[in-house]
Amino acid sequence: MREATHEEEEPRRKVSCPKCGSSDVRRSKSEGFLSGLARMFGRWPFRCRSCRVRFYRHAEPPDDLHFH
Ligand SMILES: [Zn+2]
Repeated sequence: MREATHEEEEPRRKVSCPKCGSSDVRRSKSEGFLSGLARMFGRWPFRCRSCRVRFYRHAEPPDDLHFH
């Protein structure tokens, strides 16, 4: 049996829009209480540039953000 340490993390995974399937998405600014809450679970807000829908995806924190 192999122990899964970071099984859910896929750093190279391409984020795509859940609505239109476009991969032209950007990480949107996280602001507000809900975004902070989602951030605690490793989820980050993205916005699709094609249909402008906003969604959350599990992703690594941006480089310009340091908690510690
Ligand atoms: Zn879309």
